[in-house]
Amino acid sequence: MAPLARETLVGESRWIAYPARETLALAAEAIRENPGITHCGDADCLRCRDAVAGGPRLGS
Ligand SMILES: [Zn+2]
Repeated sequence: MAPLARETLVGESRWIAYPARETLALAAEAIRENPGITHCGDADCLRCRDAVAGGPRLGS
C-alpha cells in the first residue's frame, strides 16, 4: 500500500491516509491472489478458516 500513502501533518500529529477506491482495489486483488493473508494469528481459528475458504454460502 506504500505507493498510495499520502502523509501530512495535522497540528503536531503525522497522518497517513490512503485513497479509498485505489486502496480497496489493491487490497481486493491481494486477497484474491492469496486469501490466506486475511487469517489471524491463530492457526486453528475456525472463523478465519471458513472465511479463507470463501465464507458462508446462503442456501446450502
Ligand atoms: Zn481468526
